[in-house]
Amino acid sequence: MNEKKSFEVARETLKQLTTRKLPPTPVNYKAIYNEIAGIPSVEHFPANELRGIAHALQAKTPGQQRQKGLLESSIDRMNWDGVRAALVAYAGFVPVGAAEGNAGSAAKPATSSESAPALTTEFLSQMGRLIEYAQPALGTDDPRFAEQTGQLIKALRQPGFDVSMVKQMLVNYSHRLSFAAEDQHEIKSSLLKLLNLVFENIGELSIEDQWLKGQMESLKAASVPPLSLRRLDEVERLLKDVIHKQKDAKQRTLEAQDEMRKMLATFIERLSHMTQSTGVFQEQLEESARQIESAKTLADIAPVLKEVIGATRAIAKDTQSTREELNAMREQAGSTQAEIAKLHQELDRVSVQARHDPLTGALNRRGLEEALEKEISTVRRKETPLSVALLDIDNFKALNDNLGHEQGDNALTHLAKVARECMRPQDTLARFGGEEFVFLLPDTALDKGIEAMTRLQRELTKRFFLAGNEKVLITFSAGVAQLNAEETGMEAIRRADQAMYLAKRAGKNRVIGT
Ligand code: GH3
Ligand code: MG
Ligand code: MG
Repeated sequence: MNEKKSFEVARETLKQLTTRKLPPTPVNYKAIYNEIAGIPSVEHFPANELRGIAHALQAKTPGQQRQKGLLESSIDRMNWDGVRAALVAYAGFVPVGAAEGNAGSAAKPATSSESAPALTTEFLSQMGRLIEYAQPALGTDDPRFAEQTGQLIKALRQPGFDVSMVKQMLVNYSHRLSFAAEDQHEIKSSLLKLLNLVFENIGELSIEDQWLKGQMESLKAASVPPLSLRRLDEVERLLKDVIHKQKDAKQRTLEAQDEMRKMLATFIERLSHMTQSTGVFQEQLEESARQIESAKTLADIAPVLKEVIGATRAIAKDTQSTREELNAMREQAGSTQAEIAKLHQELDRVSVQARHDPLTGALNRRGLEEALEKEISTVRRKETPLSVALLDIDNFKALNDNLGHEQGDNALTHLAKVARECMRPQDTLARFGGEEFVFLLPDTALDKGIEAMTRLQRELTKRFFLAGNEKVLITFSAGVAQLNAEETGMEAIRRADQAMYLAKRAGKNRVIGT
């Protein structure tokens, strides 16, 4: 086929893929290309791969040797039927428990009863164990199912069991298991949905509270599947902060309400007093008017006028003092409000700092201590390794001096961001001090811990910190320690710190394990 022709065939092939709505996979492309070009479709025979499989098969018994030989010659002849027959027959010669005895006598393919695994006591008790281990994942809500499971485990462990009875029990168990597993899955996803709904609503209710809003966003992000215990732990910690904050805010709001209520009560009392005194004043005026009307001489009027003036003065004084009192009340209300606003701000600050560092979002010392305690109890229980790493940014003072403190802060945020992105979800990042960070790496032995920190080092050479338009390379020195059986978490961190110090002494920008 000349070049022009093959180009046209290729173009037609693409057209046909679209017309026939076929997925553009290499296999579909090849089939249509051959069809258009009129090339007979020859299916690929994976001789090399099959030879690899044949090579890996053992040939300990005569039966195995024979079937292995048949397999190899079928591969040479590219005969699929021969390959299948040889493999099926070979499977009959694989010894299962004590079934090895068959092998010598049979050159014919094994019958199904010969090839079935023997139902040994060990096999069945292993099955019992499997069912037992899976049980916690299926919940305890269905007492019938729990009872059925218990009976099955017991039956599987009984020597000399009735095979057909156990089989029936297994069938019943599988049937119920399929429902239980589905239920658990449903329950989990519904709970998660519910949780998200709760978070969303709390978030909506706290429109004015920026801190709370931020926390709710983190909560929502942390509760997106796939969930791990580590993630749930993070959710719990964040939620604790939110609850703590809300309690305080509520208390303050109640106090403020109470204060306002008291002020309102005083106001009403003053008001009623005022209307009372104006009522008396009114009566007095009317009485005076009557006296003035019936007065015959000016001398009769003089005492009345004196009374009127006195009453007017009294009411004016009353009004004045009421106004002053109300003004004082207004001032007090204003200052109470200001005080509450200040308290809210303070609360925000304190709450944010409860477990997280507000600049980088990493855990702070307190958060680290809690996380460490939790990790260590898991490690001790599961007997898995835990590594801790401590990093200190190199020449950070110079960065601050050259670019300013604000860019120094941005550099810290950048480092935390890159670190979080290249860590596994189960790892923990904490800000240990100014430009020092601690990593908790569960299920990680020392060499893997060193690898993780080296990976972060490499990542930082790819993702520069941008100070305006200037690209700045952040390097760090780190020490890594694997927790010993006898030491506390803080002691391990101290060892990592010493290793970090050695890394500084050795010329910085390196990771040292201890
Ligand atoms: P080395 O390579 O030996 O670690 O040198 P260095 O300059 O990094 O270390 P040094 O301990 O001398 O200085 C650390 C500097 O980090 C001093 C301090 O001003 C700065 N720093 C600490 N916390 C912060 C922060 O939150 N923001 C900013 N911008 N700077 C900080
Ligand atoms: Mg330092
Ligand atoms: Mg430093």
